[in-house]
Amino acid sequence: MGRLVLNQLSRSFKDVKAVDNISLVVDDGDFLVLLGPSGCGKTTLLRMIAGLLDPTSGTLELDGRDITDQPSRRRDLAMVFQSYALYPHLSVAKNLAFPLSVRNSGGKASKAEISRRVAEVADMVDIGHLLERKPKELSGGQRQRVAVARALVREPKAFLMDEPLSNLDAKLRTATRQELAALHRRLGATFVYVTHDQVEAMTMATKIALLNGGRLEQVGTPDELYDKPASVFAAGFMGSPATNLLDAQLSTANGKITVMAPDVEAVLWEGETPEREIVLGIRPEHLTLNAAGSAAAAPSTGAALRGTVELAENLGREQLVHCRVGGRRIAVTCPREHRWEEGVAVVLSARAEHLHLFDRASGRRLEWQSEPSNPSAVPTHDDGAAASARQPTQALPA
Ligand code: ADP
Ligand code: MG
Repeated sequence: MGRLVLNQLSRSFKDVKAVDNISLVVDDGDFLVLLGPSGCGKTTLLRMIAGLLDPTSGTLELDGRDITDQPSRRRDLAMVFQSYALYPHLSVAKNLAFPLSVRNSGGKASKAEISRRVAEVADMVDIGHLLERKPKELSGGQRQRVAVARALVREPKAFLMDEPLSNLDAKLRTATRQELAALHRRLGATFVYVTHDQVEAMTMATKIALLNGGRLEQVGTPDELYDKPASVFAAGFMGSPATNLLDAQLSTANGKITVMAPDVEAVLWEGETPEREIVLGIRPEHLTLNAAGSAAAAPSTGAALRGTVELAENLGREQLVHCRVGGRRIAVTCPREHRWEEGVAVVLSARAEHLHLFDRASGRRLEWQSEPSNPSAVPTHDDGAAASARQPTQALPA
């Protein structure tokens, strides 16, 4: 078992609120990714879970027991650091055996037990042939495996990992990412994994907790964060190339809810709404590019953006075309076959269900009632008093 409950956890360093009132449940067997830009509080939060740092306020539970005041070594959690933190003077085998030889619960393991367990985990991460080497005789990828193996030997209730792949080159990072995800599936254990890389989060997580400035921005599955970003921040952070975000007005025209901005018009569906200032988000992969005046039939709902081509970037698999629309730059991904010349007049279109609407003042997502309701996609708000300063997800009249 390994179920973690974080209750209104905060940690300040002098006047910096590194972690600000975070409540979160990590279910047994979850691969939870703590995601966010550098400095948003990921490491601070993980160190509090590990017991390496005391919270300023809030509590932590592991399998129903309060562990807030329990020292790190008694928490039954294993941490893998970005730096791997291996003992340089010990062989790989001794590095792996170390956590077992100092185990204080249930006494020391016997020599035979230790070498059996070391061989077993070495096999799991494929380092059996490296057991006699010292860390300096290993490649970065091999060191990373030893660090993971050392966490495995203890059979902890949960694995805590802080950017464990960031010292690897791009190719090895992809391979190791897949290995870690497979290891998680095989063990069925709880993982809490810190990264600033949204691709790692999308590919490995069962659940993502997106952090921004020490606060929880959104919690959900990778699909939920991608399909229904809870805020302008979430829309901008998840996805590459980044979501196009533009200021617009929401209003009703001819009995339909519409979105207007310079050279942008979008018709959602029938209904009424009070006028309000919004931010419209559209992902580059959800836009279709056509030459202005071409015969593509205008759909009755969806968005149309009029502009000119400014720059086309060849990404190999596809191209990223940057267009000037109403004085703003909008990016659209499209197949490489067609060469888009600079200055050509174009129309960019997107389907209504691919339009993300956010309240301009609060930055929070606007939901509309005709959308299938999905409670887990609603942003999780911290319960503290400060939460009232932020508006919850708001309903639009259908
Ligand atoms: P992340 O891991 O997301 O990059 P951190 O948790 O390391 O972020 O840091 C969050 C914030 O707390 C940053 O502003 C950082 O400068 C600050 N911080 C972290 N550790 C300390 C410390 N020991 N003393 C002072 N400030 C710290
Ligand atoms: Mg960090």
